[in-house]
Amino acid sequence: MHYVSTRGQSAALPFSEILLGGLAPDGGLYLPETYPQVSGAELDAWRKLSYADLALEVLKKFATDIPVADLQALVKKTYTAEVYRNVRAGESAAEITPLRVLEQRDGTTVMLQALSNGPTLAFKDMAMQLIGNLFEYTLAKNHAELNIFGATSGDTGSAAEYAMRGKRGIRVFMLSPHKKMSAFQTAQMFSLQDPNIFNIAVEGVFDDCQDMVKAVSNDLEFKARQKIGTVNSINWARVVAQVVYYFRGYLAATTSNEQKVSFTVPSGNFGNICAGHIARMMGLPIDKLVAATNENDVLDEFFRTGIYRVRKSAETYHTSSPSMDISKASNFERFMFDLLGRDSERLRALFHKVETEGGFDLSGKPGSDGDEFAKVAQYGFCSGKSVHTDRLATIRDVAQHHGVILDTHTADGVKVAREHLTPGVTMIVLETALPAKFNETIVEALKRDADRPAGFENIEALPQRFEVMHADVALMKDFIARHTGL
Ligand SMILES: *Cc1c(COP(=O)(O)O)cnc(C)c1O
Repeated sequence: MHYVSTRGQSAALPFSEILLGGLAPDGGLYLPETYPQVSGAELDAWRKLSYADLALEVLKKFATDIPVADLQALVKKTYTAEVYRNVRAGESAAEITPLRVLEQRDGTTVMLQALSNGPTLAFKDMAMQLIGNLFEYTLAKNHAELNIFGATSGDTGSAAEYAMRGKRGIRVFMLSPHKKMSAFQTAQMFSLQDPNIFNIAVEGVFDDCQDMVKAVSNDLEFKARQKIGTVNSINWARVVAQVVYYFRGYLAATTSNEQKVSFTVPSGNFGNICAGHIARMMGLPIDKLVAATNENDVLDEFFRTGIYRVRKSAETYHTSSPSMDISKASNFERFMFDLLGRDSERLRALFHKVETEGGFDLSGKPGSDGDEFAKVAQYGFCSGKSVHTDRLATIRDVAQHHGVILDTHTADGVKVAREHLTPGVTMIVLETALPAKFNETIVEALKRDADRPAGFENIEALPQRFEVMHADVALMKDFIARHTGL
């Protein structure tokens, strides 16, 4: 199995060679040359597998250049009840992504699939924990090391740090805006005492952090010498790891392959739902893939109108579902590639237009850039939007009627899912975080605190280890060089 770039101007490479990288050299995103297919007989056999064994079956189809025995050891180490232990009443850690019924509504069943039982209480652990083990394995094989450098406003940075802590050959340098994250998120990251984790609190806002990452990454000589890499949401292995739980959710919700299910996915950078698209392309009987956005509705606008219009950072709203606050959806290009019939020349032209004019229009209307919007429904995609008042109302409604406290992102998902129900087709809403992470909004909605999983009770009181720094690229480079010794 080889991987091609959406922009069509990079060499096709095997899984191991794209594992540690981000964008392809031509600026595109990697996708498999063709999607591996899953037969009905395979699906039947997969019904009884544990999560780790299912992950192995899915990964085997994508990581064809890693020996199966090695992959097996990696998934067994990753998907264990010790790692995914933050379950609530009625859930079992051994299931890794427990599925439960939320409600019967409009002639169908709405279910929640918990993806947030990992160490940082958000779905990013599902992929990042595997990446940590895969990176360590690959680096050891090549006697190489890697210094991960990134910026975070919360979920991604903590998931990366908890995945990489204590890993041989890996250091993490993570920038975050000083005093701008919630107390809980700050404590989660800064309480890590592992010597390979470096938290840098930048005096500025998130954009200042991102600018520093860009400036350092643009210094190619420094980047090569310091062996700098990233683990952002376009990383292909992250997407593949996420494909597994769509299979898991489907198999847990159905008894025969004749049945279809739909998924609603709280979406930001389109990484999570992109994995659903891939599962569907592999033959998983998914009816709809519903993208739920917050006030930052770039994706909802596209799926309603065919117009993709990225926002400037000044136009990006800071919302109470902050992990979905995006100005453009970085994985969206992967779906566009398929929608355009894998015509990379057209894709290049459209994304050039994003750079120069801020977007493109596939509505088919006079003067538009194409009419592919008409084909979007064939891929199962539809969408909806949820704003702060919807979020509060949904959290209240679900707490009152079902006794379940939703996190803010998942509340956006439930709100939108309810608008896309088909009688007889089970709707699975992906639960992307636990409410304890976004307690401020839970208090606003319910006038009470969200429950904290065991072990998190006093996290804010733990000793913290971090460095405060001016938003200064030279200082940053010096800090990295001093700690890598390279
Ligand atoms: C990252 C994140 C999302 C958005 O996921 P994408 O893959 O960027 O679409 C949604 N909810 C939570 C809690 C997240 O951390």
